[in-house]
Amino acid sequence: MSHFENQEEEINHVNSLWEKEMSSRVITLLKQGSSLQEILDAEALKKPLVSPDTMKCSDGRCYTGLGSIYSAGGGMLATDEEFGDIIKKNPNLKILTSHDGCGASEILFAYYKDNNIPLPECVTTPAELAVWWAKDKAQKFGLEHQHISTEELNDIHHHELGIWVDGTGNLDPGLISGMPNVFTSELASVSKGKSFVKETEALTGIGLGKHGLDKFLDKNPFYIFICAKDEVEIERLIALVKEAVGKYGNKVAIKTAISPF
Ligand SMILES: [Zn+2]
Repeated sequence: MSHFENQEEEINHVNSLWEKEMSSRVITLLKQGSSLQEILDAEALKKPLVSPDTMKCSDGRCYTGLGSIYSAGGGMLATDEEFGDIIKKNPNLKILTSHDGCGASEILFAYYKDNNIPLPECVTTPAELAVWWAKDKAQKFGLEHQHISTEELNDIHHHELGIWVDGTGNLDPGLISGMPNVFTSELASVSKGKSFVKETEALTGIGLGKHGLDKFLDKNPFYIFICAKDEVEIERLIALVKEAVGKYGNKVAIKTAISPF
């Protein structure tokens, strides 16, 4: 089922998405030569008073505002220890979401198949895996499961211009005015490294892949924004990001800033 009357309508829609994201305030400032640090420093940002209650996939289409934390597939690529650490860091967390069209579930599904890891009988597709995994994980960690349908996504098409890597777990991209749509990854705030590398590779693959804005990214980089508590942590995350996305060469641009909190 297509959400568009015809192909032309769909192409026009994707073109307008691209123009909207590329003309966002943050991208405009970066193109004018501002650093990410300058953009953050000019904002007098304040940490939200209430900590997030919902865990969502990094997919930029799941983003609907403050109040959530993000990892690919809602934590599908995180270890149990990392998942537990996210819950410890976010004491208000109550809801784990899955969503329609989840790229992370496709990656995990392929991993299970390639490694002959048995799946429950009820799981025969990546979409079924997304729901089963989130229900199972929610039950194990005492959370409630909710599913986000295609109609509830902020758009049918991917339109992320990059990844927001939040090494603090506190710096939601929505706090910065005029941010373009991005994948959000807060796994870096708890990950020792391996899962974060896998997640960054997966999200970049989606962003630069056939479902992303790839044809528009020929002349523009896919941004990886890294925010962390200090220079040492930024250097650690840069090294991990380079390990994850080295194969994409100059298609990827890394921008860094020390977080205000
Ligand atoms: Zn997803």
